[in-house]
Amino acid sequence: MSSEWCQNKKCPEKKNQNQIRGSKGAKYYQSNKASTYIGYWCSNGCRDSWWNQNKDTCIQAVGFIDKQVLPLDDAWYVEYRYDYRENEQDRYHLRNILKGVDQPITKQQAQTPEQQAKEYGHWYTIDDTEAKELAITLGLAS
Ligand SMILES: [Zn+2]
Repeated sequence: MSSEWCQNKKCPEKKNQNQIRGSKGAKYYQSNKASTYIGYWCSNGCRDSWWNQNKDTCIQAVGFIDKQVLPLDDAWYVEYRYDYRENEQDRYHLRNILKGVDQPITKQQAQTPEQQAKEYGHWYTIDDTEAKELAITLGLAS
């Protein structure tokens, strides 16, 4: 889904020079084109304005959800910690604070082969699902 024009009804009210159209005596301001980067609006300002006008309609369309929880067994993640004193191998940790686990792991365990191949990509780590799988592999979880 996309739209050619900025979806903020008040876009012409910005009265920018580039929004002027028409001939002398019959000039007017028009909406900007939607930005391909932002999506449906010409700018973050117009997106904020649209959101303020339409948030209640949006939340009703999506539906309200109840409180969400992340249980102990799903709370695994890998953290990269920069510390100039430590060598490369001591910078990756498999963590689950809810379980009290903070286990040093190797770069090979912390990253996918694609991440390891990236230049200057040492801070990339596997996602939380992969972190949980690693915890099971290492016998820290079941
Ligand atoms: Zn706009």
